[in-house]
Amino acid sequence: MRRLAAVLAGVIALVAGPASAGTIEDVATFIQPDQPGRLKALEALLKREGLSYEIQTFDGGAKGKPAKGYNVVVTIGSGDKDILLTAHYDAVFLKDGKMVEGVVDNAASVVGIIQAAKVLKGQKLKHRLRVIFFDQEELGLIGAKAYAAGPDAGRVAAVINFDVNAFGNTPFFSEPKDPALSAAVRRACAAAKTDCVSFPVYPPSDYLAFRAKGIPETSFSIMGQKDVHQLWLFMNAGKDSGLAEGFVPGVLAQIHTDKDTLSAVDPKTVELAGRLAVQLVTAVDAAE
Ligand SMILES: [Zn+2]
Repeated sequence: MRRLAAVLAGVIALVAGPASAGTIEDVATFIQPDQPGRLKALEALLKREGLSYEIQTFDGGAKGKPAKGYNVVVTIGSGDKDILLTAHYDAVFLKDGKMVEGVVDNAASVVGIIQAAKVLKGQKLKHRLRVIFFDQEELGLIGAKAYAAGPDAGRVAAVINFDVNAFGNTPFFSEPKDPALSAAVRRACAAAKTDCVSFPVYPPSDYLAFRAKGIPETSFSIMGQKDVHQLWLFMNAGKDSGLAEGFVPGVLAQIHTDKDTLSAVDPKTVELAGRLAVQLVTAVDAAE
């Protein structure tokens, strides 16, 4: 066991790499009193990184409370078909009217895919890459649904979404319905030298807006190994899960509450998500 632990520690060190200064500070910029503040934080990071973007507005909001939404779209390269690398940047409001810090869910993923975009900008891809930051995921995937109903949906070859990538070193993903995408995901995880856990049923997120349109899609998260396996059992094993009655996986008790705070975010995980996103886009680009 000890030898296995030593080997695993080596693999984890290789996968995780050293955290660079700035990642946690970038995540922290999303801690804002409201959604316009989060949009400004996102725009500031994209400008700093020299990633030009457009803002696509849509009519959204909650029931009886209409609100304009703002999807932020970075376009890289050219091609007849698009690969979408996506993460939502909005956060929920608590009952007392305060917005949660929304860093686990989902500023950490946003910073991770910005880091990936910087790398992918320098690569020659066959596809056009669109890195999209969706608004109003928390209100019912509204930003993603607007994009999936929009003029560019017909160009989408595959969607790779990121949601909750803030701590731990075990990636897990929504098993793609599309066999080619499923194979590409496995090649990417091998290239990143990490085991990824396949979830037949994975928590809801923006990928579902594209599944509804028959577009190949997946979604990635990273958590601690035990947390991942408990969540797998919770979501996929039904009555045979072996989990204690009333058990709720840690992450589900954390997100959408005042426990979703910066102290929960490990910059090494954010950077692992970024590297994994690069491998995923590279594998999907080569496959199609
Ligand atoms: Zn989320």
